[in-house]
Amino acid sequence: MKPFNPIEALAALRHEFGEHGGVNMSVEESTTFTVHDSSTMPKIFHGELSPEIGGCYLYGRHFNPTVYALGRQIAAIEGAEAGYCTSSGMAAISATLLQLCNAGDHIVAERSVYGGTFALLHEYLPAKAGIETTFVDVFDLASVEAAFRTGTKVLYCETVSNPTLRIADLPRLADIAHRHAATLVVDNTFTPLIAAPLLHGADVVVHSVTKFLNGASDHIAGAICGSHEFIASLMDLHTGSLMLLGPTMDPQVAFDVSLRLPHLGIRMREHSARAQVFSERLHALRQPIVYPGLPCHPDHELGRRLFNPEFGFGGIFTLDLGTPERAFEFMDLLQNEHRFGYVAVSLGFSDTLMSCSAASTSSEMPIEELARAGIQPGLVRMSIGYTGSLEQRWEQLHSILIRMKLCSA
Ligand code: PLP
Repeated sequence: MKPFNPIEALAALRHEFGEHGGVNMSVEESTTFTVHDSSTMPKIFHGELSPEIGGCYLYGRHFNPTVYALGRQIAAIEGAEAGYCTSSGMAAISATLLQLCNAGDHIVAERSVYGGTFALLHEYLPAKAGIETTFVDVFDLASVEAAFRTGTKVLYCETVSNPTLRIADLPRLADIAHRHAATLVVDNTFTPLIAAPLLHGADVVVHSVTKFLNGASDHIAGAICGSHEFIASLMDLHTGSLMLLGPTMDPQVAFDVSLRLPHLGIRMREHSARAQVFSERLHALRQPIVYPGLPCHPDHELGRRLFNPEFGFGGIFTLDLGTPERAFEFMDLLQNEHRFGYVAVSLGFSDTLMSCSAASTSSEMPIEELARAGIQPGLVRMSIGYTGSLEQRWEQLHSILIRMKLCSA
């Protein structure tokens, strides 16, 4: 069978034309929609008539045509039946987990996940909803299996863990989850196009669209992809967590993201190509670099099996500077001496973004959890951009390594 090609899947979608035949779809800014035959209203409210089958869009917090079209586009690149978009990545994650779990239910989750997700699982969900999480090392499959108990509804991980950059063995995790009648939810924020978790057995994929998918660092946005049934359940008028909590995406944001998705393939290739070259050179200089594209990475072979080779191993690597002070000095020099990139949280931007994870995007984790997850205090996460030339950026990085006496001239 021909392997799944996310770029072809996106291009094969029926094109959404603008109102006047424009090459881009129009932005539908209405919050409410006309029901042409009032007798259909009850059926629309009961979910029997959707926008696609004789109904209408109902109300902007339910479905909006522009947001709906973007949802279809993101679903296409994930190989999903359906998708819908949210106001942030955290909205996508929290709505998904609240949809799948009730009070008293249990989640098994990777311990090295984005700090906001960790806090949601560790503090917010137990306190507010009575949903407990057991954190495990998902790379140790026996510990995953052992953490399941009566009431475990979800196994949660990131395709590539933030910031430790381990690759989840999705087919095996799906197997464990499904044997326990649980749902495998995967955050694919770091690896759009590179990995399609649903094709490796995951049931639901969530994204922080804020990152690579949008790519311009100008919108906070999220997406959820899965079966038609799951996406419809999120919109249920009585029990749907998107419908009832209301973290919907603004249509203007959906339009902006839709303009950038056609370039995603070009961007991902360049992010990955540069991260690969820098990692190889840093490795050759014996720097403590972690990048899944290096053959010495513990999951490199797994990545070769799971990832789409057209898009490489992603745009993110980490470098351990030893202490927070050294990490801050390194990032400040790169930003302020050379404009190599920015000292800023987030990732997937055209310019390089650098942050010290333990002091920023993983700071929600207690010190002992950081140590258990292997997030060292001086670890710098770098999301490699594609501005300037590769050699110009390498010279800048190399000169700071020399200046800090991390390598010789
Ligand atoms: N998932 C991952 C892997 C992230 O890195 C982030 C944010 O950094 C999020 C989810 C949360 O996304 P957002 O900031 O769009 O809510």
